[in-house]
Amino acid sequence: MSAPIHSTVLSFEDARRMVEEQAACISVPATESVDLLSASGRVLAEVAVADRDLPPFPRSTRDGYAVGSADLLQIPARLSVVGEIRAGERLEKIPSISSGQAASIMTGAPVPEGADAVVMIEYTARDGERVEITRAVLPGENVVPRGAEAKQGSPLIERGLRLNDAAIALAAASGKSRLNVYKRPRVAVLTTGDEIVDVEATPGPTQIRNSNSYSLAVQIREAGGDPVLLPVAPDEPHALRRLIEEGLKSDLLLLTGGVSMGRYDLVEQVLLDMQAEFFFTGAKIQPGRPVVFGKRSRADGPSTGSGQVLVPETSKYFFGLPGNPVSTIVTFELFARPVLEAMAGQAPRKLRFLHARLKSEIGVKTGLRKFLPAILSGEFEDSQVEVIAWQGSGDLAATARANCYVVIPPDRGQIAVGEWVAVMMR
Ligand code: AMP
Ligand code: MG
Repeated sequence: MSAPIHSTVLSFEDARRMVEEQAACISVPATESVDLLSASGRVLAEVAVADRDLPPFPRSTRDGYAVGSADLLQIPARLSVVGEIRAGERLEKIPSISSGQAASIMTGAPVPEGADAVVMIEYTARDGERVEITRAVLPGENVVPRGAEAKQGSPLIERGLRLNDAAIALAAASGKSRLNVYKRPRVAVLTTGDEIVDVEATPGPTQIRNSNSYSLAVQIREAGGDPVLLPVAPDEPHALRRLIEEGLKSDLLLLTGGVSMGRYDLVEQVLLDMQAEFFFTGAKIQPGRPVVFGKRSRADGPSTGSGQVLVPETSKYFFGLPGNPVSTIVTFELFARPVLEAMAGQAPRKLRFLHARLKSEIGVKTGLRKFLPAILSGEFEDSQVEVIAWQGSGDLAATARANCYVVIPPDRGQIAVGEWVAVMMR
């Protein structure tokens, strides 16, 4: 006889906190060395250190004249031009200037000693000529001091950072042609439902093509994992169990469908029969209320006579995501992503929300936190957001047009035009 399922439906905040707590317990994965461009989008597994000061010399940020600001206390000031310093010029050419002197200097060139500012004037003087400067400059104007961006030996990029364009450029700037990154976790995707057929199949009149495996594969890749797509599981416990066992061989298992209260929603029962524990079996959100998060611990080693485990147990996390396509997408984003990111070695981060004014009023039922597909538009100070008309959590067509979700707190039923609302980008 099967044990009964205890339903644990949490508020969005509690469910999210639960996921973050579990994610914090996940140990970092193995590492590999990859070339610089292949490291884009990967998670750094080392601390990248500056191999020299940045900038390596006091750098002029403009074309102009390198001057001592003390020479410009009396305006106008006439300074004699001692020469020209180009980008890449050897320091020995004009190592310093003295009082009353200026050097013509280019963007990216080293500022000589004795100069603490670069002043721009229209006139281009030749060597030995005198230039007239008619305004004072501040010490440091248009000059970045040596090492101001980073000192040699200081950390430039922290371990656990997802490498973006600037981070890759920074690694290049410090001479790193290869980087150590974390290996990508493997994430099994198991979609369930008697009505679901493969994308290549010709669906019968009441059959539905499997789309969830594809949205999830994209989200998994985007979050730093490698998707492993399993065959579609029927709503039948034995076949379902066999495929779940298969999925639990990956680092993380994502199921879709079969987690509601229906007679053929078997996912939770089968997992429970496999000694899984559940952190929650629902969250007060829409779409995505029936979302399930749990862990299946398994003793891999032989047991002693007393039933004690010799080898530490290995446990695998799983999510049962609701089958409605938009619910699947939203619940991955809210709950599965932080676990996957932790498995990918990424430092934890909180959900980020923007705020925008509502373009058309919203009326919804209260009780659940809503994530409604929406379009954020406008620019500069006048961002506006409008919820897309949709047929509910099965409406992929509406969601594909959305560039964000409007997030509505559970106690708000009516929101007027012009009110500020939270927006989650997608
Ligand atoms: P369920 O969560 O199993 O009750 O499924 C909810 C709705 O999502 C049903 O209309 C299913 O047909 C649909 N659905 C479930 N899995 C998929 C899938 N992999 N691709 C597209 N639609 C699905
Ligand atoms: Mg189903």
